[in-house]
Amino acid sequence: MTIDIDTLINGLREKDPHQTYFHQAAGGLLEGLAPFLRNQPRYADPSLFARLLEPERVIIFRVPWVDDQGRVQVNRGFRVQMNGSLGPYKGGLRFHPSVNLDVLRFLALEQTIKNALTDLPLGSGKGGADFDPHGRSDGEIMRFCQAFMAELFDHIGSDVDVPAGDIGVGAREIGYLFGMYRKLNRSHDSGAITGKSPVFGGSLLRTEATGYGLVYFLQYMLQEQQESLEGRRIAVSGAGNVARYAAEKALAEGATVITLSDSRGALHAPNGLTQEHLETLDRLQEEGGRLHQLPEHHDGLTYESGIKPWRFPCDIALPCATQNELDEQDARVLVENGCRWVAEGANMPTTTEAIAHLVSHGVGYGPGKAANAGGVAVSGLEMSQNSLRHPWSREEVDRRLHDIMSRIHHKCLEYGGQGKRPDYVQGASVAGFVRVAEAMLRQGVV
Ligand code: GLU
Repeated sequence: MTIDIDTLINGLREKDPHQTYFHQAAGGLLEGLAPFLRNQPRYADPSLFARLLEPERVIIFRVPWVDDQGRVQVNRGFRVQMNGSLGPYKGGLRFHPSVNLDVLRFLALEQTIKNALTDLPLGSGKGGADFDPHGRSDGEIMRFCQAFMAELFDHIGSDVDVPAGDIGVGAREIGYLFGMYRKLNRSHDSGAITGKSPVFGGSLLRTEATGYGLVYFLQYMLQEQQESLEGRRIAVSGAGNVARYAAEKALAEGATVITLSDSRGALHAPNGLTQEHLETLDRLQEEGGRLHQLPEHHDGLTYESGIKPWRFPCDIALPCATQNELDEQDARVLVENGCRWVAEGANMPTTTEAIAHLVSHGVGYGPGKAANAGGVAVSGLEMSQNSLRHPWSREEVDRRLHDIMSRIHHKCLEYGGQGKRPDYVQGASVAGFVRVAEAMLRQGVV
């Protein structure tokens, strides 16, 4: 049997013509797999791909809640249960106005390969709502989370489906979601949600895990070319926990972090951010403040509206904000300014054209499904601790996170390292795919 990638993608387009993010993610995966599939008859089976690309189940539900003015608001909630062959469905919840089935299918597909790469017993899923948490009071957030969980409750559990956070869902939201889950469940079942506070069963280092893991992966990429982070200028986008902890780890490792950003613009720190800057940002955000206010508290920082961080000359770019935030024009500017490495903290932040431009100009490119797997990996470790009923120390979790990122990097080289420069797109796609495909084939047609 053979696989014709164009036929597969055209089939997806015909079936769901408006799901362009999903087509982009599926196209990226299939391109990464193409050379491998040419001499692998076991996997080059269109029906295997038909199953891999179709969620096992999609749940869509109404989320009615009452705002602070006493008005009834209605949002749409989703859970995509993508692939359960390796373990309970696992993946975050995103609360953002852009959430729809297309976005969640692309994220769920990324999660399938990412979770397989961790070597942990994790299936894949993704969910969320088109709810905008910005400007909402704590009471509104709590009521929204409770209403969301009232519907999601029937579909999750520690051996069924284990949600966590993503954009717009942090430790506070996870707390409210878990509280409602526990109340409805009449049993604690702490492993049913990850990203919990360590006060009630959460793992130490879960908040930091995606950002720290990204920097560990980047360090392995650099080491492979006998380079290091020391003295490198890094442009980071985003101001959420991925960006914040990637910045923290990068500066602890001797790099100079020159930017952060949010949806309105970019913060520039020509001499580099410090730990003190990051802690001020934490305090600001806790009080409902935003990134653009940081220069009011520290000299030497500027914030400019309407720009992206990619215009500032850097050696390494770490897109940690959202999908398609780094386009072909940005890639051109990065290359012209001498950027040599891009590693993704967000999911699919680089457009297809931008990736092609970067790779063809010799930029080392680490795709998110490998580079940002540290978050879900520590979620997997949180599930282990919940089952053991025993918390691990920060050092223990960090050691395991390092091990997992190192193994993922190693697998990327195994499947994509034949050239002078490793092809991480190919390596991550093939290594993740082989594990999940093998599980699916051995479990029969289900
Ligand atoms: N939302 C994160 C991701 O994109 C983490 C998911 C999880 O911890 O389950 O991988």
